[in-house]
Amino acid sequence: MISRCSGILFSVFLALPLAAQEPEFRANTARPDSTIFSPLKLPPANSMRTGAGRPGPDYWQQQVDYKIEASLDPETRIVHGKAHVTYTNASPDDLDYIWLSLEQNAFREDSIAARIGGATAIGMSNAEGDGYTLHALEAHGKDLDYSVYDTMARVMTPKPIKANGGTFEFDIEWDFTIPLKVFRRFGIADFDDGKVYEVAQWFPAVAVYDDIHGWNTLPYLGTGEFYSNFGTYDVEITVPRSMILVATGELQNEKKVFTSEQVNRLKQARKSDETVIIHGADEIGQEGSRPEGEGPLTWKFHAEQVRTFAWACSDIFILDAASSGDILIQSAYPEDGLPVWGKSTQMLKTAIEGYSSRWFPYPYPAATNVFGAEGGMEYPMIIFCRGSSEQGVYGVTTHEIGHNWFPMLINTDERRYAWMDEGFNTFINGYSTEEWFGPQKRSENDPAAFGAFMLMPDQMPIDTPADMLGGNLLGILEYMKTGVGLTLLRESILGHERFDFAFRTYINEWAFKSPQPADFFRCMEDAAGMDLAWFWRGWFLETGYLDQAVSGVSQPNGKRGARVRFDNLGGLVMPLHFQVEYEDGTTEDFEYPVQVWYQNDRIIEMLPGQRNIFRVTIDQHKKFPEAKRSNNTWTETDE
Ligand SMILES: [Zn+2]
Repeated sequence: MISRCSGILFSVFLALPLAAQEPEFRANTARPDSTIFSPLKLPPANSMRTGAGRPGPDYWQQQVDYKIEASLDPETRIVHGKAHVTYTNASPDDLDYIWLSLEQNAFREDSIAARIGGATAIGMSNAEGDGYTLHALEAHGKDLDYSVYDTMARVMTPKPIKANGGTFEFDIEWDFTIPLKVFRRFGIADFDDGKVYEVAQWFPAVAVYDDIHGWNTLPYLGTGEFYSNFGTYDVEITVPRSMILVATGELQNEKKVFTSEQVNRLKQARKSDETVIIHGADEIGQEGSRPEGEGPLTWKFHAEQVRTFAWACSDIFILDAASSGDILIQSAYPEDGLPVWGKSTQMLKTAIEGYSSRWFPYPYPAATNVFGAEGGMEYPMIIFCRGSSEQGVYGVTTHEIGHNWFPMLINTDERRYAWMDEGFNTFINGYSTEEWFGPQKRSENDPAAFGAFMLMPDQMPIDTPADMLGGNLLGILEYMKTGVGLTLLRESILGHERFDFAFRTYINEWAFKSPQPADFFRCMEDAAGMDLAWFWRGWFLETGYLDQAVSGVSQPNGKRGARVRFDNLGGLVMPLHFQVEYEDGTTEDFEYPVQVWYQNDRIIEMLPGQRNIFRVTIDQHKKFPEAKRSNNTWTETDE
C-alpha cells in the first residue's frame, strides 16, 4: 500500500526472504511457539465478564449506603462519628461476615505500615496516631462480634446476608485524633493566620466483596490506595461556626451555614462562567461574615454513586465558585494561596470540561479544590492540592480531578492495579495540560523521552501491586510508563479515531463498575479491532525494552535495489518506521506494521529503485520509546 501524506512518500513492503549467497543477510531462526505475539493467558470469560471485555448479563457489585453524623473539635483534633450503614448483597453468595476497612489504624505505631516503614519507602515511618477507637458496633441494638487485624476488621453478622439482594444494616460509632504528622492524604496545615483541616479515610468502611477475590482484605500500607464500593452518602458534619466546610456531595442546607449575602453569591456563581467570591479574604474573621447565632454549625451533604467521602474545613478559607453547565465548581484556600489559587476554580473548570468532552461527561454535580496539607489527593467531587506556581497548581489540579474518571467513575482496585488509575489518569492529563497552557513543546507522556527509563536496572512489570514497588518505580511504572504506553497506542499504533472509539467504549461499558485488567485488554482489542497481545504483554506484563537497530545495508550496483537488515534486540516489539536518505538528496519514509516481527527478530527489507542509499534512520520522527538510539542509524561510510 502506498499513500501520500504531507509530501512524504510512505511505502509498505513485505519482508522478503534472503538471497542464499549473502549469509550475513539470513534471518534468525523462526520464533518459538510462545512469543510476545502469543495470545495472553487471561482468565476465562464468563457471564459476569465477557470475552469482549464487557460486564456480562450476570454482572453484580455490592452497594453500601452511609448515613453519618460527625464532628471535629479543632482543639483536641478529635473527629467523632456515628454511622448507620446499609449493606446490599447483590452477589450470588450468602455472606456470614463482612470486612471493614479501618485505615486510621495504619497510623498506630504497631501497624504493619509503621513497622515496615523504617525498612522500606512505603510505610508510615512517621506514624504517630492512635487509630480508631470503636465505641459501638451493633445491629438493631445488639452488639456485633468483631475482630480487628491491623487495618481490617471481620464483623460476624447475626444471620447470613442473603444472596441476590439481601441487606444488612448496622450502626457504628468511633473517634480518632487527627495525627499531627501524617504520611499522606489528609491532615492539618499550619498557615500564617490559621489552620486548614483536611479529613479523609476517616470512617470505618465496608471492604469490597467481588467475583475475583471474594473479600478484598489487603491491608492499608500507605502506597496502594483504595478499592471501595459505590454508595449513597448523607453526611452531617458539625464544626465551629467560624469555619467554612467543603465536602464530597451537594450542600443541602446552604441557608443555615452561609449568610444571605453569601447565598446570593452562590446563586450567582451557579449561573456564572467567571469566578464569583463567596467568602472573600476581607471577610475572614470579620463579624457578620458567618450566620448569626451561638455554637457550632452543622453542614449537611448528599452524594450518590460515590466510592468514598472526604471533607475539609477552616476558619481561614477563601471560598469562590463558578459553574460549568449544572456543575458547581469551587475552590477553598487560605490567603497564602493567592494569587495563583485565585485561578484554581477556572483551572478546575478547564480540566473538567476537557475530560468531559474527550472521554466521558463529569459524573457529579459539584467539584471542589482545596489548598491544605496534602500535596495531591483525589476523592469524589473534592480534591486536596498544594502548590504556589501556576504550573504546579494546574498540574496537580488536573491530575487529582482526572482521578474522578479513574478510579472514581471506573472503580478499579488501586492496591493491586495502581496503573489503572494513576497511569490512565496521567495519560488523560497530558492533553489537559495543553488546554490550559496551550500547545507544549514536549508532552509529559513523550514516548521518545521515556525510552532510557526502560534500561533502568531492577525493572518490574507495570502490573505489580503498588506497595511492592520500591524507589522511584511507583512513579516510573504506574504513572509514567502507563501514561506513555496509552499515548503511544493512541498516537502511533492505533491512531486517534480508532483509539478514542475503543477507550470511550471501555469507559462507557465500565462507568460505575469495576473492571479487571483482563476486561480492559479485551475491551480495547474488541473495540479497536486489533490483536494487541504483544502490546499488553510487552508494555504492561513484561520488562523488555525497545531496541530496533539497522544492522546492515547491501546495495549491489544492479537493478535489484538495496537490502536493509533490521534487528529487534530489546524484547519489546513496535512498528518499524524508518527514513532512507539517498545520495541524490531525496528522502523516503517507510512505515511497517508490528506484524513485520511476527516470524523473527531479524528482517531484511528489499527497497526498490536504482538510487544509492546514503543513510537509513529508524524512528526518524522520534515517536517510539527507543532505549538505544546509537544503533538506529546506518550511514554509507559505516561499511
Ligand atoms: Zn494520582
